[in-house]
Amino acid sequence: MHTLEITNLSKTYANGVQALQNISLTIPTGLFGLLGPNGAGKSTLMRIIATLQEADEGVIKFSGTDIAKHKNALRKVLGYLPQQFGLYPKISAEVLLHHLAVLKGLTNKRNRKEIVNALLHKTNLYTDRKKNLGGFSGGMKQRFGIAQALLTNPKLLIVDEPTAGLDPTERNRFHNLLSQLAENTVVILSTHIVDDVKELCTNMAIINQGKVLLQGNPQTAIDNLQGKIYQKAIQKTELPDYKKEYEVIAEKLFLGKPIIHILSDTNPNNGFMPTQAGLEEVYFAQIFGTA
Ligand code: ADP
Repeated sequence: MHTLEITNLSKTYANGVQALQNISLTIPTGLFGLLGPNGAGKSTLMRIIATLQEADEGVIKFSGTDIAKHKNALRKVLGYLPQQFGLYPKISAEVLLHHLAVLKGLTNKRNRKEIVNALLHKTNLYTDRKKNLGGFSGGMKQRFGIAQALLTNPKLLIVDEPTAGLDPTERNRFHNLLSQLAENTVVILSTHIVDDVKELCTNMAIINQGKVLLQGNPQTAIDNLQGKIYQKAIQKTELPDYKKEYEVIAEKLFLGKPIIHILSDTNPNNGFMPTQAGLEEVYFAQIFGTA
């Protein structure tokens, strides 16, 4: 079992943007969801953990070792799938994976072939291995990204917004792959998609504007909100008034009519009905609420 321990991490860019403000997180083996809207600071945090960028303050330890002081040690156990990665469109998945494997030091041909084939099977790309990467779908590209990230058998795997743009089947397949890997790896999944975390993660953190708003088990966070969410169908024109009076955390459309979800410790009556809390409510209550 491994643990990633982040303590009081801060990062301010040269333009004055405070991308991370005193972040502390404990991330055990398993799938950890880092949830936050665009601009929250997720990529900055991922890049610092991947030792591609340095924090101004704070310490990150992986299984007790300070990663900033031992960058090479961390890189040896790291698999990283960045938000955008380039692929050579005119060569096949198999050829590129072999090439990347050589760059990572897998010089023994037989050994390399075994590893590459195993990864192609694991990521469900074996039958497409001879196809040029330029013809791959979004999901196939992401799975290839995972295959290359797994070449060194990582203990820490970071995937940055991997499911954006995938269709439901591909997303599902990608989720299954991640949860399989998380059985003995620290996997950090950075995402702005609530469902990614809901379906997959045993632990999570919600971050916004460089700060950790909530950290823990998704189900516990949902349970804590149970009984505090009320909904009501309203007219569109009424929305500003409701926003003034209530803590509106979500607006949805049902059959074209707006339905608002509010956060309230007591029953507000006035036509509101109690409704089940889900991770979406947890997320929106953190991002938009004052709770
Ligand atoms: P996320 O991945 O959650 O979308 P980022 O870490 O990319 O968030 O960005 C956090 C904040 O830092 C944003 O306000 C973004 O504009 C800013 N930022 C990110 N990278 C840089 C950079 N290289 N220089 C200046 N500001 C940056």
